Amino acid sequence: TRYTPEDVIKLCRQEDVKFIRLQFTDIFGIMKNVAITIDQLEKALNNEMMFDGSSINGFVRIEESDMILYPDPNSFVIFPWSEPDCKVARLICDVYSADRTPFLGDPRYALKRAIQRMNKMGYELFAGPELEFFLFQMDESGAPTTRTHDDASYFDLAPVDRGEIARQDMCLMLEKMGFHIEASHHECAPAQHEIDFKYDDALTTADNVMTFKLVVRTVAQRHNLHATFLPKPVYGVAGNGMHINQSLFQNGRNMFFDPDSEDGLSEIAHQYVAGLLTHAPGFTALTNPLVNSYKRLVPGYEAPLYIAWSAQNRSPLIRIPASRGTGTRVELRSPDPSANPYLALAATLMAGLDGIEKKMTPPEPINCNIYKMDDAELEKHGVSCLPLNIREATRAMLQDEVIVAALGEHIIKNYAEAKFIEHEEYRVQVTPWEVNNYLKRY
Ligand code: GLN
Ligand code: MG
Ligand code: MG
Ligand code: MG
Repeated sequence: TRYTPEDVIKLCRQEDVKFIRLQFTDIFGIMKNVAITIDQLEKALNNEMMFDGSSINGFVRIEESDMILYPDPNSFVIFPWSEPDCKVARLICDVYSADRTPFLGDPRYALKRAIQRMNKMGYELFAGPELEFFLFQMDESGAPTTRTHDDASYFDLAPVDRGEIARQDMCLMLEKMGFHIEASHHECAPAQHEIDFKYDDALTTADNVMTFKLVVRTVAQRHNLHATFLPKPVYGVAGNGMHINQSLFQNGRNMFFDPDSEDGLSEIAHQYVAGLLTHAPGFTALTNPLVNSYKRLVPGYEAPLYIAWSAQNRSPLIRIPASRGTGTRVELRSPDPSANPYLALAATLMAGLDGIEKKMTPPEPINCNIYKMDDAELEKHGVSCLPLNIREATRAMLQDEVIVAALGEHIIKNYAEAKFIEHEEYRVQVTPWEVNNYLKRY
Protein backbone atom coordinates (compact mmCIF):
# COMPACT_ATOMS: atom_id res chain seq x y z
CA THR A 1 0.00 0.00 0.00
CA ARG A 2 1.09 3.52 -0.79
CA TYR A 3 -1.02 5.55 1.62
CA THR A 4 -2.64 4.96 4.99
CA PRO A 5 -5.72 6.99 5.94
CA GLU A 6 -3.42 9.06 8.18
CA ASP A 7 -1.16 9.84 5.21
CA VAL A 8 -4.17 11.08 3.26
CA ILE A 9 -5.24 13.41 6.06
CA LYS A 10 -1.70 14.72 6.45
CA LEU A 11 -1.28 15.31 2.71
CA CYS A 12 -4.58 17.16 2.51
CA ARG A 13 -3.52 19.46 5.38
CA GLN A 14 -0.08 20.06 3.88
CA GLU A 15 -1.44 20.84 0.44
CA ASP A 16 -4.43 22.76 1.77
CA VAL A 17 -6.91 20.63 -0.19
CA LYS A 18 -10.40 22.14 -0.02
CA PHE A 19 -12.62 19.41 -1.47
CA ILE A 20 -12.45 15.64 -1.79
CA ARG A 21 -14.43 13.82 -4.42
CA LEU A 22 -15.50 10.36 -3.33
CA GLN A 23 -15.79 8.47 -6.60
CA PHE A 24 -17.44 5.22 -7.62
CA THR A 25 -18.77 3.77 -10.87
CA ASP A 26 -22.32 2.66 -11.62
CA ILE A 27 -23.03 -0.56 -13.55
CA PHE A 28 -23.25 1.37 -16.84
CA GLY A 29 -19.71 2.63 -16.44
CA ILE A 30 -20.65 6.18 -15.47
CA MET A 31 -18.46 7.78 -12.82
CA LYS A 32 -20.38 9.18 -9.86
CA ASN A 33 -19.09 11.33 -7.09
CA VAL A 34 -20.00 12.84 -3.79
CA ALA A 35 -17.93 15.93 -2.94
CA ILE A 36 -17.05 16.52 0.69
CA THR A 37 -15.17 19.30 2.41
CA ILE A 38 -11.95 18.65 4.23
CA ASP A 39 -13.84 18.69 7.57
CA GLN A 40 -15.60 15.49 6.57
CA LEU A 41 -12.46 13.65 5.48
CA GLU A 42 -11.80 11.81 8.72
CA LYS A 43 -15.36 10.61 8.88
CA ALA A 44 -15.16 9.44 5.25
CA LEU A 45 -11.91 7.56 5.87
CA ASN A 46 -13.61 5.85 8.83
CA ASN A 47 -16.14 4.48 6.34
CA GLU A 48 -18.97 6.57 7.68
CA MET A 49 -20.00 8.47 4.54
CA MET A 50 -23.60 7.57 3.78
CA PHE A 51 -25.29 8.46 0.52
CA ASP A 52 -28.63 7.85 -1.09
CA GLY A 53 -28.17 5.10 -3.67
CA SER A 54 -31.74 5.25 -4.97
CA SER A 55 -30.96 8.18 -7.23
CA ILE A 56 -28.43 6.16 -9.18
CA ASN A 57 -29.52 4.25 -12.24
CA GLY A 58 -29.65 0.47 -11.74
CA PHE A 59 -28.26 0.68 -8.24
CA VAL A 60 -30.90 -0.03 -5.60
CA ARG A 61 -34.59 0.16 -4.87
CA ILE A 62 -35.92 3.01 -2.73
CA GLU A 63 -36.44 0.75 0.27
CA GLU A 64 -32.77 -0.17 0.50
CA SER A 65 -31.32 3.16 -0.50
CA ASP A 66 -28.80 3.89 2.25
CA MET A 67 -25.33 3.13 0.99
CA ILE A 68 -21.91 3.71 2.52
CA LEU A 69 -18.72 4.66 0.70
CA TYR A 70 -15.46 2.99 1.76
CA PRO A 71 -12.63 5.11 0.31
CA ASP A 72 -9.49 3.35 -0.92
CA PRO A 73 -6.66 5.49 0.54
CA ASN A 74 -4.27 4.17 -2.13
CA SER A 75 -6.30 5.91 -4.80
CA PHE A 76 -5.64 9.38 -3.34
CA VAL A 77 -4.64 11.98 -5.95
CA ILE A 78 -4.89 15.76 -6.06
CA PHE A 79 -6.27 16.83 -9.44
CA PRO A 80 -3.32 18.61 -11.07
CA TRP A 81 -5.70 20.95 -12.90
CA SER A 82 -7.41 22.28 -9.80
CA GLU A 83 -6.75 25.91 -8.81
CA PRO A 84 -3.91 26.42 -6.28
CA ASP A 85 -6.30 28.22 -3.92
CA CYS A 86 -9.01 25.59 -4.29
CA LYS A 87 -7.33 22.22 -4.57
CA VAL A 88 -9.54 19.24 -5.22
CA ALA A 89 -8.55 15.61 -4.60
CA ARG A 90 -10.24 12.32 -5.22
CA LEU A 91 -10.59 8.95 -3.51
CA ILE A 92 -11.97 5.92 -5.34
CA CYS A 93 -14.48 4.10 -3.14
CA ASP A 94 -16.06 0.71 -2.65
CA VAL A 95 -19.80 0.77 -2.10
CA TYR A 96 -21.26 -0.96 0.95
CA SER A 97 -24.84 -1.55 2.03
CA ALA A 98 -26.17 -0.09 5.28
CA ASP A 99 -25.61 -3.48 6.95
CA ARG A 100 -21.88 -3.12 6.16
CA THR A 101 -21.67 -5.90 3.61
CA PRO A 102 -20.23 -5.14 0.15
CA PHE A 103 -22.98 -3.93 -2.15
CA LEU A 104 -23.69 -6.55 -4.82
CA GLY A 105 -24.39 -3.87 -7.42
CA ASP A 106 -20.91 -2.36 -7.11
CA PRO A 107 -18.92 -3.22 -10.27
CA ARG A 108 -15.64 -2.76 -8.41
CA TYR A 109 -16.73 -5.46 -5.98
CA ALA A 110 -17.62 -7.78 -8.89
CA LEU A 111 -14.09 -7.38 -10.21
CA LYS A 112 -12.59 -7.92 -6.75
CA ARG A 113 -14.54 -11.19 -6.48
CA ALA A 114 -13.25 -12.34 -9.87
CA ILE A 115 -9.70 -11.46 -8.80
CA GLN A 116 -10.12 -13.48 -5.60
CA ARG A 117 -11.20 -16.52 -7.60
CA MET A 118 -8.21 -16.11 -9.87
CA ASN A 119 -5.84 -15.78 -6.90
CA LYS A 120 -7.22 -19.04 -5.50
CA MET A 121 -6.23 -20.70 -8.77
CA GLY A 122 -2.75 -19.29 -8.20
CA TYR A 123 -2.74 -16.61 -10.90
CA GLU A 124 -2.43 -12.87 -11.20
CA LEU A 125 -3.79 -10.98 -14.21
CA PHE A 126 -2.00 -8.12 -15.87
CA ALA A 127 -4.14 -6.03 -18.18
CA GLY A 128 -3.15 -3.24 -20.53
CA PRO A 129 -5.91 -1.35 -22.35
CA GLU A 130 -5.56 0.80 -25.48
CA LEU A 131 -8.20 3.51 -25.50
CA GLU A 132 -9.11 5.40 -28.65
CA PHE A 133 -11.13 8.60 -28.77
CA PHE A 134 -12.14 11.49 -31.01
CA LEU A 135 -11.55 15.18 -30.38
CA PHE A 136 -14.40 17.22 -31.83
CA GLN A 137 -15.11 20.93 -32.13
CA MET A 138 -17.71 22.58 -29.94
CA ASP A 139 -20.31 24.94 -31.37
CA GLU A 140 -20.86 28.59 -30.31
CA SER A 141 -22.93 27.55 -27.30
CA GLY A 142 -20.29 25.04 -26.13
CA ALA A 143 -22.26 21.96 -27.21
CA PRO A 144 -20.22 19.12 -28.73
CA THR A 145 -20.44 18.50 -32.48
CA THR A 146 -18.92 15.79 -34.67
CA ARG A 147 -16.98 18.40 -36.67
CA THR A 148 -13.22 18.11 -36.95
CA HIS A 149 -10.58 20.47 -38.27
CA ASP A 150 -7.97 17.91 -38.75
CA ASP A 151 -6.70 16.00 -41.71
CA ALA A 152 -3.86 14.08 -40.12
CA SER A 153 -4.05 10.33 -40.04
CA TYR A 154 -2.45 7.30 -38.46
CA PHE A 155 1.05 8.02 -37.11
CA ASP A 156 1.36 11.38 -38.87
CA LEU A 157 4.18 13.42 -37.45
CA ALA A 158 3.48 17.10 -37.96
CA PRO A 159 1.44 18.79 -35.24
CA VAL A 160 -1.18 19.88 -37.70
CA ASP A 161 -3.99 20.64 -35.38
CA ARG A 162 -5.19 21.60 -31.94
CA GLY A 163 -5.89 17.93 -31.28
CA GLU A 164 -2.20 17.13 -31.37
CA ILE A 165 -1.40 19.77 -28.78
CA ALA A 166 -4.32 18.73 -26.62
CA ARG A 167 -3.07 15.13 -26.74
CA GLN A 168 0.38 16.20 -25.55
CA ASP A 169 -1.25 18.01 -22.66
CA MET A 170 -3.29 14.92 -21.83
CA CYS A 171 -0.14 12.82 -21.62
CA LEU A 172 1.53 15.33 -19.28
CA MET A 173 -1.56 15.57 -17.08
CA LEU A 174 -1.86 11.77 -16.92
CA GLU A 175 1.80 11.51 -15.91
CA LYS A 176 1.22 14.05 -13.14
CA MET A 177 -1.49 11.70 -11.90
CA GLY A 178 0.86 8.73 -11.75
CA PHE A 179 0.28 7.13 -15.15
CA HIS A 180 3.18 5.67 -17.14
CA ILE A 181 2.42 6.68 -20.71
CA GLU A 182 3.89 4.20 -23.19
CA ALA A 183 2.76 5.63 -26.51
CA SER A 184 0.38 8.15 -27.96
CA HIS A 185 -0.51 8.64 -31.59
CA HIS A 186 -3.03 9.84 -34.09
CA GLU A 187 -5.40 7.06 -35.19
CA CYS A 188 -6.91 6.19 -38.59
CA ALA A 189 -9.82 8.59 -38.65
CA PRO A 190 -9.65 12.39 -38.74
CA ALA A 191 -9.43 13.73 -35.17
CA GLN A 192 -9.06 10.21 -33.74
CA HIS A 193 -6.34 9.58 -31.15
CA GLU A 194 -4.94 6.85 -28.94
CA ILE A 195 -2.95 7.08 -25.71
CA ASP A 196 -1.53 3.87 -24.23
CA PHE A 197 -0.56 3.54 -20.60
CA LYS A 198 1.33 0.77 -18.84
CA TYR A 199 -0.39 -2.49 -17.93
CA ASP A 200 -1.11 -3.21 -14.28
CA ASP A 201 -3.10 -5.61 -12.11
CA ALA A 202 -6.78 -5.89 -13.02
CA LEU A 203 -8.22 -3.62 -10.32
CA THR A 204 -5.67 -0.85 -10.82
CA THR A 205 -6.24 -1.03 -14.57
CA ALA A 206 -10.01 -0.68 -14.22
CA ASP A 207 -9.54 2.30 -11.87
CA ASN A 208 -7.03 3.73 -14.35
CA VAL A 209 -9.49 3.48 -17.25
CA MET A 210 -12.05 5.53 -15.31
CA THR A 211 -9.42 8.13 -14.36
CA PHE A 212 -8.04 8.18 -17.91
CA LYS A 213 -11.42 9.07 -19.39
CA LEU A 214 -11.94 11.84 -16.82
CA VAL A 215 -8.51 13.34 -17.53
CA VAL A 216 -8.87 13.16 -21.32
CA ARG A 217 -12.28 14.86 -21.20
CA THR A 218 -11.11 17.50 -18.76
CA VAL A 219 -8.02 18.43 -20.76
CA ALA A 220 -9.98 18.43 -24.04
CA GLN A 221 -12.43 20.90 -22.54
CA ARG A 222 -9.59 23.22 -21.60
CA HIS A 223 -8.61 23.20 -25.28
CA ASN A 224 -12.17 23.90 -26.28
CA LEU A 225 -12.56 20.42 -27.70
CA HIS A 226 -14.94 17.61 -26.85
CA ALA A 227 -13.36 14.20 -26.27
CA THR A 228 -15.66 11.27 -26.96
CA PHE A 229 -15.21 7.57 -26.31
CA LEU A 230 -18.40 6.72 -28.18
CA PRO A 231 -17.59 3.56 -30.17
CA LYS A 232 -18.75 4.88 -33.56
CA PRO A 233 -19.39 8.61 -33.56
CA VAL A 234 -19.06 9.07 -37.34
CA TYR A 235 -20.36 6.84 -40.12
CA GLY A 236 -17.82 5.73 -42.71
CA VAL A 237 -14.63 6.09 -40.67
CA ALA A 238 -12.99 3.95 -37.97
CA GLY A 239 -14.60 3.64 -34.56
CA ASN A 240 -13.11 3.75 -31.07
CA GLY A 241 -11.79 0.50 -29.66
CA MET A 242 -10.42 -0.40 -26.27
CA HIS A 243 -8.24 -3.42 -26.99
CA ILE A 244 -7.37 -5.21 -23.76
CA ASN A 245 -4.01 -6.98 -23.56
CA GLN A 246 -4.03 -9.72 -20.94
CA SER A 247 -1.54 -12.13 -19.41
CA LEU A 248 -1.48 -14.39 -16.36
CA PHE A 249 1.47 -14.47 -14.00
CA GLN A 250 2.53 -16.91 -11.28
CA ASN A 251 5.37 -16.01 -8.88
CA GLY A 252 6.57 -13.31 -11.24
CA ARG A 253 6.59 -15.61 -14.26
CA ASN A 254 4.46 -15.06 -17.35
CA MET A 255 2.44 -18.27 -17.60
CA PHE A 256 1.46 -17.58 -21.22
CA PHE A 257 5.05 -18.03 -22.41
CA ASP A 258 6.55 -21.37 -23.34
CA PRO A 259 9.88 -21.13 -25.20
CA ASP A 260 9.66 -24.79 -26.22
CA SER A 261 6.29 -24.70 -27.94
CA GLU A 262 5.90 -24.09 -31.65
CA ASP A 263 4.18 -20.72 -31.29
CA GLY A 264 5.90 -19.67 -28.05
CA LEU A 265 2.60 -19.94 -26.20
CA SER A 266 1.94 -22.23 -23.25
CA GLU A 267 -0.95 -24.65 -22.90
CA ILE A 268 -2.40 -22.27 -20.30
CA ALA A 269 -2.38 -19.49 -22.91
CA HIS A 270 -4.18 -21.73 -25.41
CA GLN A 271 -6.77 -22.65 -22.79
CA TYR A 272 -7.27 -18.99 -21.86
CA VAL A 273 -7.80 -18.11 -25.53
CA ALA A 274 -10.27 -20.98 -25.84
CA GLY A 275 -12.20 -19.68 -22.82
CA LEU A 276 -12.38 -16.19 -24.31
CA LEU A 277 -13.60 -17.54 -27.65
CA THR A 278 -16.18 -19.79 -25.98
CA HIS A 279 -17.65 -17.02 -23.85
CA ALA A 280 -17.29 -14.21 -26.40
CA PRO A 281 -21.03 -14.12 -27.18
CA GLY A 282 -21.71 -14.06 -23.42
CA PHE A 283 -19.38 -11.19 -22.52
CA THR A 284 -20.05 -8.98 -25.55
CA ALA A 285 -22.95 -7.13 -23.87
CA LEU A 286 -20.39 -6.07 -21.25
CA THR A 287 -17.46 -5.25 -23.53
CA ASN A 288 -19.76 -3.56 -26.09
CA PRO A 289 -22.62 -2.08 -24.09
CA LEU A 290 -24.29 0.47 -26.37
CA VAL A 291 -26.63 0.28 -29.34
CA ASN A 292 -23.87 2.24 -31.04
CA SER A 293 -21.15 -0.32 -30.13
CA TYR A 294 -22.40 -2.67 -32.86
CA LYS A 295 -21.86 -0.07 -35.58
CA ARG A 296 -18.16 -0.37 -34.85
CA LEU A 297 -18.12 -4.18 -35.17
CA VAL A 298 -18.41 -4.14 -38.96
CA PRO A 299 -15.99 -5.04 -41.78
CA GLY A 300 -13.37 -2.61 -43.02
CA TYR A 301 -12.21 -0.74 -39.91
CA GLU A 302 -9.92 -3.16 -38.05
CA ALA A 303 -12.64 -4.00 -35.58
CA PRO A 304 -13.55 -7.66 -35.10
CA LEU A 305 -16.83 -9.29 -36.00
CA TYR A 306 -15.78 -12.93 -36.15
CA ILE A 307 -15.00 -15.15 -33.18
CA ALA A 308 -11.49 -16.32 -34.06
CA TRP A 309 -7.87 -15.85 -33.09
CA SER A 310 -4.64 -15.26 -34.91
CA ALA A 311 -0.99 -14.48 -34.41
CA GLN A 312 -0.66 -12.41 -37.55
CA ASN A 313 -3.77 -10.71 -38.42
CA ARG A 314 -5.77 -7.77 -37.10
CA SER A 315 -9.19 -8.89 -38.19
CA PRO A 316 -10.02 -11.54 -35.58
CA LEU A 317 -11.33 -11.13 -32.06
CA ILE A 318 -8.04 -12.17 -30.48
CA ARG A 319 -4.60 -11.31 -31.76
CA ILE A 320 -1.36 -12.62 -30.27
CA PRO A 321 1.17 -9.77 -30.46
CA ALA A 322 4.67 -10.81 -31.53
CA SER A 323 6.50 -10.25 -28.23
CA ARG A 324 7.42 -13.30 -26.15
CA GLY A 325 8.99 -13.76 -22.73
CA THR A 326 7.48 -11.49 -20.04
CA GLY A 327 5.60 -9.59 -22.75
CA THR A 328 3.67 -12.63 -23.98
CA ARG A 329 -0.01 -11.72 -24.05
CA VAL A 330 -3.34 -12.03 -25.76
CA GLU A 331 -4.95 -8.92 -27.20
CA LEU A 332 -8.73 -8.98 -27.01
CA ARG A 333 -9.87 -6.56 -29.73
CA SER A 334 -13.63 -6.38 -29.37
CA PRO A 335 -14.04 -4.20 -26.24
CA ASP A 336 -14.83 -0.54 -26.80
CA PRO A 337 -14.20 2.36 -24.43
CA SER A 338 -17.87 2.79 -23.52
CA ALA A 339 -17.62 -0.48 -21.57
CA ASN A 340 -17.62 -0.45 -17.78
CA PRO A 341 -13.96 -1.48 -17.27
CA TYR A 342 -14.69 -3.31 -14.00
CA LEU A 343 -17.37 -5.47 -15.58
CA ALA A 344 -15.48 -5.98 -18.86
CA LEU A 345 -12.37 -7.14 -16.98
CA ALA A 346 -14.32 -9.35 -14.54
CA ALA A 347 -16.24 -11.02 -17.37
CA THR A 348 -13.32 -11.59 -19.73
CA LEU A 349 -11.07 -12.79 -16.91
CA MET A 350 -13.65 -15.35 -15.79
CA ALA A 351 -14.14 -16.41 -19.41
CA GLY A 352 -10.42 -17.06 -19.83
CA LEU A 353 -10.12 -18.84 -16.49
CA ASP A 354 -13.04 -21.08 -17.40
CA GLY A 355 -10.99 -22.21 -20.38
CA ILE A 356 -8.15 -23.14 -18.01
CA GLU A 357 -10.41 -24.88 -15.49
CA LYS A 358 -12.11 -26.94 -18.19
CA LYS A 359 -8.84 -27.47 -20.10
CA MET A 360 -10.40 -26.19 -23.34
CA THR A 361 -8.59 -26.44 -26.66
CA PRO A 362 -8.91 -23.48 -29.04
CA PRO A 363 -9.71 -24.03 -32.71
CA GLU A 364 -6.88 -23.59 -35.23
CA PRO A 365 -5.76 -19.96 -35.53
CA ILE A 366 -6.97 -18.20 -38.67
CA ASN A 367 -3.99 -16.58 -40.33
CA CYS A 368 -5.56 -15.28 -43.50
CA ASN A 369 -7.88 -12.32 -43.96
CA ILE A 370 -11.08 -13.47 -42.38
CA TYR A 371 -13.12 -10.71 -44.06
CA LYS A 372 -12.34 -12.31 -47.40
CA MET A 373 -13.77 -15.72 -46.45
CA ASP A 374 -17.17 -16.66 -47.79
CA ASP A 375 -19.84 -18.35 -45.70
CA ALA A 376 -18.75 -21.85 -46.71
CA GLU A 377 -15.15 -21.19 -45.67
CA LEU A 378 -16.23 -19.62 -42.40
CA GLU A 379 -18.31 -22.66 -41.65
CA LYS A 380 -15.48 -25.01 -42.58
CA HIS A 381 -13.24 -23.25 -40.07
CA GLY A 382 -15.99 -23.21 -37.44
CA VAL A 383 -15.99 -19.42 -37.29
CA SER A 384 -19.11 -17.68 -36.03
CA CYS A 385 -20.03 -14.02 -35.59
CA LEU A 386 -20.16 -11.83 -32.52
CA PRO A 387 -23.71 -10.81 -31.54
CA LEU A 388 -25.09 -8.31 -34.05
CA ASN A 389 -26.76 -5.95 -31.63
CA ILE A 390 -27.11 -5.22 -27.93
CA ARG A 391 -30.33 -7.23 -27.67
CA GLU A 392 -28.74 -10.40 -29.06
CA ALA A 393 -25.68 -9.82 -26.90
CA THR A 394 -27.77 -9.34 -23.76
CA ARG A 395 -29.68 -12.55 -24.45
CA ALA A 396 -26.40 -14.42 -24.91
CA MET A 397 -25.12 -12.94 -21.64
CA LEU A 398 -28.18 -14.21 -19.77
CA GLN A 399 -27.57 -17.68 -21.17
CA ASP A 400 -23.92 -17.83 -20.23
CA GLU A 401 -23.68 -19.31 -16.73
CA VAL A 402 -20.03 -18.42 -16.30
CA ILE A 403 -20.65 -14.75 -17.06
CA VAL A 404 -23.80 -14.64 -14.91
CA ALA A 405 -21.88 -16.20 -12.01
CA ALA A 406 -18.96 -13.83 -12.53
CA LEU A 407 -21.07 -10.69 -12.15
CA GLY A 408 -23.84 -11.97 -9.90
CA GLU A 409 -27.63 -11.79 -10.18
CA HIS A 410 -27.98 -8.19 -9.02
CA ILE A 411 -25.78 -6.70 -11.72
CA ILE A 412 -26.91 -9.08 -14.46
CA LYS A 413 -30.62 -8.47 -13.84
CA ASN A 414 -30.41 -4.67 -13.69
CA TYR A 415 -28.00 -4.52 -16.60
CA ALA A 416 -30.09 -6.77 -18.86
CA GLU A 417 -33.31 -4.90 -18.05
CA ALA A 418 -31.75 -1.56 -18.97
CA LYS A 419 -30.14 -2.89 -22.16
CA PHE A 420 -33.41 -4.39 -23.44
CA ILE A 421 -35.16 -1.05 -22.88
CA GLU A 422 -32.30 0.80 -24.60
CA HIS A 423 -32.49 -1.46 -27.63
CA GLU A 424 -36.27 -1.22 -27.82
CA GLU A 425 -36.16 2.56 -27.68
CA TYR A 426 -33.70 2.52 -30.55
CA ARG A 427 -35.55 -0.10 -32.57
CA VAL A 428 -38.69 2.00 -32.92
CA GLN A 429 -36.84 5.10 -34.19
CA VAL A 430 -37.20 6.21 -37.80
CA THR A 431 -33.69 7.13 -38.88
CA PRO A 432 -32.46 9.73 -41.40
CA TRP A 433 -31.16 6.81 -43.49
CA GLU A 434 -34.69 5.47 -43.89
CA VAL A 435 -36.12 8.87 -44.74
CA ASN A 436 -33.34 9.49 -47.29
CA ASN A 437 -33.65 6.12 -48.95
CA TYR A 438 -37.37 5.49 -48.85
CA LEU A 439 -39.39 8.67 -48.62
CA LYS A 440 -39.28 9.61 -52.30
CA ARG A 441 -39.54 6.10 -53.70
CA TYR A 442 -42.42 4.68 -51.67
N1 GLN B 1 -10.03 1.62 -34.32
C1 GLN B 1 -9.91 0.20 -34.41
C2 GLN B 1 -10.96 -0.49 -33.56
O1 GLN B 1 -12.06 -0.11 -33.63
C3 GLN B 1 -8.53 -0.29 -34.05
C4 GLN B 1 -7.44 0.26 -34.90
C5 GLN B 1 -6.08 -0.11 -34.41
O2 GLN B 1 -5.71 0.17 -33.27
N2 GLN B 1 -5.29 -0.76 -35.19
O3 GLN B 1 -10.75 -1.39 -32.82
MG1 MG C 1 -2.87 0.39 -30.22
MG1 MG D 1 -5.41 1.77 -32.08
MG1 MG E 1 -4.13 -2.88 -30.27
